[in-house]
Formats: sequence, structure tokens, C-alpha cells
Amino acid sequence: SGFVGLGLSDDLLRAVHEAGYRTPTPIQAEGIPHVMARRDIIGIAQTGTGKTASFTLPMIEMLARGRAKARMPRSLILEPTRELAAQVAESFEKYGKYNKLSMALLIGGTSFDEQDRKIDRGVDVLIATPGRLLDHFERGKLMMTQVQLLVIDEADRMLDMGFIPDVERICKMLPFTRQTLFYSATMPAEIRRLTEQFLSNPVRVEV
Ligand code: AMP
Repeated sequence: SGFVGLGLSDDLLRAVHEAGYRTPTPIQAEGIPHVMARRDIIGIAQTGTGKTASFTLPMIEMLARGRAKARMPRSLILEPTRELAAQVAESFEKYGKYNKLSMALLIGGTSFDEQDRKIDRGVDVLIATPGRLLDHFERGKLMMTQVQLLVIDEADRMLDMGFIPDVERICKMLPFTRQTLFYSATMPAEIRRLTEQFLSNPVRVEV
């Protein structure tokens, strides 16, 4: 299929095929090779462009290739709302169905205890809203020293909702040496400042 040549393993190509995708969208075709090459990314893209797969597919590939240290989270996806976080979690499970990766969805409206137990058992990926992630962290349950890949999705909506200070706190808690993928439909000054502070030599992908 059109996804061959992007560096994705057969497990992922099979899941993508079963999802009914035949051709990568522009942000996937352009973005996935940069993510696989471990570049930081500024993706200027709206929902509906296939941006979720553009970061979850290479994330799953890199997680599947790497090895977990005591099964602490190695990737973190930040979303502005519960609904978006839940949608991304659904996509992650769909694309990752042939890879044995573990994911925790940290959003409001779910029990802390249940999520704590899941984290204790070991997870590869956290998908979270910023406030809820910080709540978990402050409970002392969350180790983020192994996070090598951070996705900040829908940054302009994070700004509208007043979440930028939380996002900054989270960025400062994570290892300095990591890969950061940053997506926003628009680039107001506050968002640009955030990319200047937390991204390193990013590739700009605009669709
Ligand atoms: P997103 O922009 O990530 O919210 O994706 C928008 C919609 O496009 C979702 O329903 C995806 O399932 C679908 N989609 C993503 N990538 C592709 C693709 N390469 N071919 C067809 N549909 C896709």
C-alpha cells in the first residue's frame, strides 16, 4: 500500500490496512519520516487531516522497537479535552492492536485508584489532559523519567482553555533529552514562544 516505505513494521501496516487506509494523507506522508528520524516537529494542521495517525503510528513503531525500563511510560500525549484524549486512545488501540503495548488514559471523570493500579502494572504510553496528569504526578504515582517522546496536540485549544502554564510545567518535568511533536491549527505569539522554549531545531510540516 501507499504506507510502505515510511519505516513502519508489518504489524502496523496490517492494522492500517484493516482500518481501511490505502494512501497516507499529506501530514502522514510528510510527517512520519521526520518523526522516525527523531526530529522535533511543528505540525500546522487541523483535525481531519489524519494528524492523529501521523504521530501515533511512528510512536507505536518506536515503542515496539525499544525496550521498556521497568515498564515506565516512554511516550506522553497531551490533549486539551477528555473527548480528544479518548479519541486518540481509541486510535492508538486500533493502530497498535498487533503490538503488545500498554496505555493509560488519564482524564477527569475516571477513578484515580483504577488509573494508579494501571500505572503500577506498567504502561508504555500516557494519554492525558494536562490538569489530570499533574494531579496524578502530585499523588506521587507517576514516574516520567523515561519519557522520550512528547506530543502536544491542539496547542491553540490548550491556549484558549488556559492550559499553557500546565503544559509548561509538564515540559519542565520531563527529561531534557527527548523528542517533541507539537501540533496547532494556528500559531499565535504565545504558541510560537512555547515552541521556541521547548522544541529543538524543529521541522515545520504545514498541511
Ligand atoms: P484525524 O485528523 O487524525 O482526526 O483523522 C481524521 C479521520 O481520518 C479519522 O477518522 C481517521 O480514521 C481518518 N484517516 C486518517 N488517516 C487516514 C488515511 N490515510 N486514509 C483514510 N482515512 C484516514
